[in-house]
Amino acid sequence: MKELPNDNKYKEYLAKYKWHNGFVCPKCRGAAGCMKKGFKYHRYSCHHVESATANTLFHKVKFGLQKSFCVVFEMTTSSKSLSSVQLAERYGISQTTMRFFMQKVRKAMESSEKYPLSELVHVDKFTIGEKEDGKQGRNYDGKKKKAVIAVELSNKHQVKRIYIKSIDDYSSKSLTPIFEEHIDTSTKVFADKWRGYEPITWSQIKQNVTQ
Ligand SMILES: [Zn+2]
Repeated sequence: MKELPNDNKYKEYLAKYKWHNGFVCPKCRGAAGCMKKGFKYHRYSCHHVESATANTLFHKVKFGLQKSFCVVFEMTTSSKSLSSVQLAERYGISQTTMRFFMQKVRKAMESSEKYPLSELVHVDKFTIGEKEDGKQGRNYDGKKKKAVIAVELSNKHQVKRIYIKSIDDYSSKSLTPIFEEHIDTSTKVFADKWRGYEPITWSQIKQNVTQ
């Protein structure tokens, strides 16, 4: 807030971030143009004008850029879930407006699956499903589903992100994809000693000694 003390500074920041590789006109794909007052980009040949906030979360936001940035910061860094009631009160915004904005932020935060889990990751396999009446123990039937879960923890051991994948069995063929698709190769992974994990290099899995 010290570095960006007013909404205009946020606009400048957004413009820098948005066009750090240069401006490309969405209409004519041309590039030659210039920045106008208010951090708007003006394209010479087709006269298209684009604001720094266009096509971002912050476009036409009703309560200013500084507050919006703060809300995004809180939502992306808090390990607790934040309610719109709570944030509306803190920023002096109506709850409806806050809820609408938070929905936009959540949508933008939806995993693109391009960001593999890092830091500490725990992997486990499990079965989901109801136990049928009168049936005992591991009497698996069609209703039981197997799954593998990868949980990313922060340094303080708070849960950050989770991937769950439905699998057919606990073979290494079924267990390997969650590692390949969702876990960074340099990450410390904790798992039990199940042989299905063996193809994943042991340098990555530090076996859970309590198992
Ligand atoms: Zn153009």
